[in-house]
Amino acid sequence: MGSKNSCHLNKIEHVGIAVKDLEASNLLFEKLLGRSHYKVEEVLSEGVKTSFFQTGESKIELLQATSEDSPIARFLERKGEGVHHIAFAVDDIRMEINRLKKEGFTILNEEPQRGADNKLVVFVHPKSSNGVLVELCQELPK
Ligand code: ZN
Repeated sequence: MGSKNSCHLNKIEHVGIAVKDLEASNLLFEKLLGRSHYKVEEVLSEGVKTSFFQTGESKIELLQATSEDSPIARFLERKGEGVHHIAFAVDDIRMEINRLKKEGFTILNEEPQRGADNKLVVFVHPKSSNGVLVELCQELPK
């Protein structure tokens, strides 16, 4: 799957979408995508409940806040529902963090966190990437 040296950020792993009501949005996206979500997972540390839809090689991740101080609750307050982040698959997340820092990007949490869907994740601050919250995710061994 691709060369490690020529391609740092591999495929778009998923697009994260902030929603107010996960159950209602699951139904909506089932209609839109023509398939059911394949998992629902709560990430306590992030204050979110997520659901995932497979769309070819990539996925759609719906995110609902589970607490008032969740980053998703704050996002919904400021911007309303919609695209929240774009996640790229990486082979070596620590190498990518170092590379992006050298390139002048601001990394939100320097130590990768355990995210949903068996991933190690880190975010690039949207102020350093044209307003787009970018997630890097590395698949953990099962
Ligand atoms: Zn994500």
